[in-house]
Amino acid sequence: MQAKIDAFMEEVKARDAHEPEFLQAVQEVAETVIPYIASNEIYNGKNILLRMVEPERAIMFRVSWVDDKGEIHVNRGYRIQMNSAIGPYKGGLRFHPSVNLSILKFLAFEQVFKNSLTTLPMGGGKGGSDFDPKGKSDDEIMRFCHSFMSELFRHIGPNTDVPAGDIGVGAREIGFLFGMYRKLRNEFTGVLTGKGLSWGGSEIRPEATGYGTVYFAENMLKTKGGSFKGKTITVSGSGNVAQYATEKAIQLGAKVVTLSDSSGYIYDADGIDEDKLNFVMKLKNERRGRISEYTDTYPSAKFHKGKTPWEEKCEIALPCATQNELNGEDAKTLIGNGCICVSEGANMPCTSEAVAAFHKAKIFFAPGKASNAGGVATSGLEMTQNSLRFKWTRQEVDDKLQQIMNDIHEKCVEYGTEDDGYIDYVKGANIAGFVKVADAMLAQGVI
Ligand code: NDP
Repeated sequence: MQAKIDAFMEEVKARDAHEPEFLQAVQEVAETVIPYIASNEIYNGKNILLRMVEPERAIMFRVSWVDDKGEIHVNRGYRIQMNSAIGPYKGGLRFHPSVNLSILKFLAFEQVFKNSLTTLPMGGGKGGSDFDPKGKSDDEIMRFCHSFMSELFRHIGPNTDVPAGDIGVGAREIGFLFGMYRKLRNEFTGVLTGKGLSWGGSEIRPEATGYGTVYFAENMLKTKGGSFKGKTITVSGSGNVAQYATEKAIQLGAKVVTLSDSSGYIYDADGIDEDKLNFVMKLKNERRGRISEYTDTYPSAKFHKGKTPWEEKCEIALPCATQNELNGEDAKTLIGNGCICVSEGANMPCTSEAVAAFHKAKIFFAPGKASNAGGVATSGLEMTQNSLRFKWTRQEVDDKLQQIMNDIHEKCVEYGTEDDGYIDYVKGANIAGFVKVADAMLAQGVI
């Protein structure tokens, strides 16, 4: 079997040798899905996985914009339309200087499996730009977003491709992007999700990824009679996902002791309560400040410059910042400190070595494509509400989100339970995500 996996990876590497993040994501899927294909006659000999690793379309474009001093800048824009076998392409836009083809292809590939797991009819895509929103004025952000959409608009649409936010793309950016789309197309449709509540957005969408990550972790703990109550939690990041994962963990009775950004992490031994979290939300979402400023207001907390939170003792770790932020050494430290559960809020935050260590120690580990699927699932609910020109209440959307996270958890248990009873959520998520897309591709023929 290993020879088959190696041969497949050689073929992918021959084409995409310079895309390390993409290869990492494909390898992880290949290791669990290729054995499944081999033991299931209908998928055999159809080269389905090889077809799935090739984007249906990859669009790259110039984004020129003018800063407040009148200087002209050029960034690169992307949209990867990975797979639309089960529905329109769906996936976020990321604005960050690290954005490149490899990162967006890994994200788009993961998105195909994630969207399939949500049970909603959504294909997978991802996009963004190497534009850095940090330190830019609102006017500069607006000009950039308008320029970005002045090309992207011809490739997307409510039945074709529906982007959303991701790192560096929040409510402000979605507003500017939607405004330009609406002007160019002269139509008001649900072409983007994460919209403001007064113009087509869904309740709970901002909260959904973080809440869903916690709901999923709670489901894992429940399989052994556990819960969040009284547990100590480390969270990384301090953006959208981290903020709402923290909020839900607090609501469930846990103590969250860390938050971070790219400059380091803060440790608050007393726990980050609702008031402190409100302070962080204002700091990050309105003042656009740094997490180190937390200690100015709460001096008993400590800021650890240039470090990640994984050296702190916790029972549950929620990596919610970015890819490959938790490595094999971090995983060993967490396990040594008594961590029993890791639920990925970010996409691929744990390296392959870290995941292997969690599996070896047989602790709960949820891959992002399962545990952070609540965001895109609620985007799917936003699309439904837009099509129906209807609005569900906060409670209705939260109930649906919880039900979807329960369903994803059950699917992972169905496909990922090992002979000794350990649940391999990576295997479960990969196979469950694969089956739905593969069946659709088989039914639609070689296209
Ligand atoms: P935000 O932009 O709101 O926040 C990102 C956070 O991660 C910030 O605190 C940022 O710090 C930190 N961060 C970014 N890059 C790095 C880095 N290289 N090293 C350390 N910290 C870093 O993004 P989101 O919260 O929306 O996204 C976070 C993760 O969750 C991403 O992996 C995203 O793909 C994933 N995700 C998001 C979904 C959503 O609905 N928003 C849905 C599913 C997954 P700084 O400000 O210093 O850059």
